[in-house]
Amino acid sequence: MFNKFEEFAAQQLEGGTLTRADALTILRSSDDELMELVAAGSRLRRAHFGNTVKVNYLVNLKSGLCPEDCHYCSQRLGSEAQILKYSWLKPEEAVEQATVGIRAGASRVCLVASGKGPSNHDVARVADMVGLLKDEHPQVEVCACLGILKEGQAEKLQAAGVDAYNHNLNTSESRYADICTTHEYEDRVRTVGHAKDAGLSPCSGLIVGMGESDDELVDAVFALRDLGSESIPVNFLMPFDGTPLEGTWLLTPGTCLRILALVRFACPGTELRMAGGREMHLRSLQPLALHIANSLFLGDYLTSEGQEADADLEMIADAGFQVLGAEPRTDGHSGVSLRKRGAGTQIAPNA
Ligand code: SF4
Repeated sequence: MFNKFEEFAAQQLEGGTLTRADALTILRSSDDELMELVAAGSRLRRAHFGNTVKVNYLVNLKSGLCPEDCHYCSQRLGSEAQILKYSWLKPEEAVEQATVGIRAGASRVCLVASGKGPSNHDVARVADMVGLLKDEHPQVEVCACLGILKEGQAEKLQAAGVDAYNHNLNTSESRYADICTTHEYEDRVRTVGHAKDAGLSPCSGLIVGMGESDDELVDAVFALRDLGSESIPVNFLMPFDGTPLEGTWLLTPGTCLRILALVRFACPGTELRMAGGREMHLRSLQPLALHIANSLFLGDYLTSEGQEADADLEMIADAGFQVLGAEPRTDGHSGVSLRKRGAGTQIAPNA
């Protein structure tokens, strides 16, 4: 007999729209129901993405030194987090970094820079990098993440060969002022709109575990649905020491699975990425999350280490999934030593 989550899945497969009541039922379900929830989420995931996992790779073009005050961010103004700080990578350095990820199986490279938003000079600089990158790796998808865009900048990025633009809503509109005071939720919505209008694939997601209520989380997920985000990264708060959210540990592995399931049921055909913080919050349940999410970042994050790339690839293979665009692996190993944290500095990788 069908349980309620199977019924939700059936409704989605018939083109239904997840209601707030059903969204809250998912978020508030018990640990006893967790496997039923994962199984129903897995039906949707497999209907849209089969057994593939999209592998994405982050390149931090410019790290730290940001004048904004996003409370969750290790790169914010006044952050005392022990992170690498550097200004722009040179184009060849960026391509070198990206190549490491591509050789390890990434089909999308995410070029990220700290800051409120790019100057026109920054956009031109990134356009040059993308040209160089696409010359060497024409097949790779490039996503830019440069902050709030001004008129015309999205078009320039699109013309340079950028495929997608990431700008996360992060949380609900009603909570936005609690996590940032130097820009507004509406700035973020507008930038996603600019990207979309320019023909870039909109990538916009969340940071969860910042104290949001269930209703606020549903608001944020439904806002992403309304915005037409084609890729939704779900970050699990990494509460960096030296930031206002230091010591904020509100997530359990089960909660993380319920949040991923909420996004999957609300946006069944959208790429759903388990993003930063998955290792520390999902912990041993990461492979279960692959049955709901169909995408992840390989290796390290912008300012912190992830698990080793080989461990990611092994997890994907062990759980019976296949890296999108890659030959099936028998050993799960990339054969590539993937460490990048020294990029842009004299500091040794992984220092
Ligand atoms: S604008 Fe970006 S880099 Fe700057 S503090 Fe906010 S999230 Fe961090």
